Amino acid sequence: MYHYDLLVVGSANADLVIAVERRPDAGETVLGSDLAVHPGGKGANQAVAAARLGARTALLARVGDDAYGRLLLDSQRAAGVDTVGVLVGGAPTGVALITVDPSGDNSIVVSPGANGKLTPADVQAAASLFHASRVVSTQLEIPLETVVAVVRSLAPGSRFVLNPSPPRPLPGEVLGACDPLIVNEHEARVILGAACVSDAPGDWARLLLAKGPRSVVVTLGAEGALVASGEGVVHVPSVPVDTVDTTGAGDAFTAALAWRLGAGEPLARAAAYAARVGAAAVTRAGAQESYPTAAEVGEP
Ligand code: ATP
Repeated sequence: MYHYDLLVVGSANADLVIAVERRPDAGETVLGSDLAVHPGGKGANQAVAAARLGARTALLARVGDDAYGRLLLDSQRAAGVDTVGVLVGGAPTGVALITVDPSGDNSIVVSPGANGKLTPADVQAAASLFHASRVVSTQLEIPLETVVAVVRSLAPGSRFVLNPSPPRPLPGEVLGACDPLIVNEHEARVILGAACVSDAPGDWARLLLAKGPRSVVVTLGAEGALVASGEGVVHVPSVPVDTVDTTGAGDAFTAALAWRLGAGEPLARAAAYAARVGAAAVTRAGAQESYPTAAEVGEP
């Protein structure tokens, strides 16, 4: 019996958002809207998404000993995430400085801060969390050597889910542990590199599978997702909704998928549930603020 359905290892950021009429040129100052501060970061987002659905969830992350760190801890706890694995100190909390122009385009500067100080030693010191968790998920907003340490810390029988965002080439040891590797188009192209010889998502799924993961999911936004395993490639349709804001949809999808896989559901069925969660997340503004509860999504 596992104590946690899902352990998320990953980033926690404060997203600082200002709407602007246009971006400043070098040396220029422009006025913008009031500042909005939101809890974010792919790890923190995934943990909140899973907990809101009812998954028993823990987060292993690092924040600064500052107001943004406290904001992130508060938002995790409010969602029901166990924060026993959230380490405090070592650097300021990670921050994303975001300007949004009237067309909705973002410009983002990320200061990784404490996320960059989540070390392999931190992972090794959290062995009890790994042994208590049925599924472990992570992303690439923490150092790659820390992701390698996560793979080496997996308890026998537990499952590893990776969304390689922001994407970079990955060692075979990490790719081989993924079940599944979850990518969007951009991530698929970067991970495949020179092997990306096609524009067809089904080909990306097959080519990625050949790099070692036990399964692969390619998310396609409003087009749904492809799931690929030894049994072939299957399309999972999306749920038609009125889209308000797609921010954080991928994190909600990944968290929901990881949770349902841990509950023993086959990949295509778990992805169909995750597509309902992703669709719900795009009907509201923001990332964590947009994530649905189990009651809103309905029975898995
Ligand atoms: P992110 O913007 O968080 O980086 P992503 O590119 O990783 O997202 P997407 O493919 O945009 O991931 O979204 C993940 C899943 O959420 C999709 O596979 C789909 O099931 C669902 N989804 C996303 N956008 C929509 C939409 N506009 N309508 C319905 N479902 C959607």
